[in-house]
Amino acid sequence: MAQTLNVYLINKAGDLKGLFKDDARKSSAALLKTFFEATIKGSTKYNAVAVTWDGKKSQPVLGDFVCYVLTTGSDSVVAQHATGDSITLGPSGTTMMDPVSKGVISEVYMRSIVQGGDERALATANKENAVAACIFHELGHNLLDATTPNVTNVHKMTNPDGLLRDTDSSRLKPDETPNATDNAAFVTGYGRRGAGVKQFTDDMPT
Ligand SMILES: [Zn+2]
Repeated sequence: MAQTLNVYLINKAGDLKGLFKDDARKSSAALLKTFFEATIKGSTKYNAVAVTWDGKKSQPVLGDFVCYVLTTGSDSVVAQHATGDSITLGPSGTTMMDPVSKGVISEVYMRSIVQGGDERALATANKENAVAACIFHELGHNLLDATTPNVTNVHKMTNPDGLLRDTDSSRLKPDETPNATDNAAFVTGYGRRGAGVKQFTDDMPT
């Protein structure tokens, strides 16, 4: 039976010193919902999408996504839980499996996405879209290459106009939105990860 794809956004960045208030968070969630609605069109697994900033630890079920929204990489949930000795965080976000719980951690860094990494900078135009795009990218890793066997290595995809591509050499621009290649990759992922990807929920509110 088809289920709702719930996306839980866990805000640990406050309002980014006034640059990303409640209305901006709501707009980002609405954009992200439209992004994911396009991905489920080709899938029989889901029939609806819900994106919330108010999730509790008890809520996510298999097939849902969780993304931690942090001020910077110094607050990294990945870094706190990964046991490897050389964790390299991405410039705007990181996704990695927690080796203890086997839950996948996705996180994004708001100061980087909204302010280009400069604490004193004004917010970029299209900041709400920029945040939604970066979350979409991390959740692409979450579904496709954070656990083995990989469905698709996101950074190896040939997809210059999409959100799923190598972002280390060419970072996402604030106005970019998902394309057909992105959506098709998610559809493949939903099929190949039929049982869902376990999410890291330990740092969600109780
Ligand atoms: Zn990436």
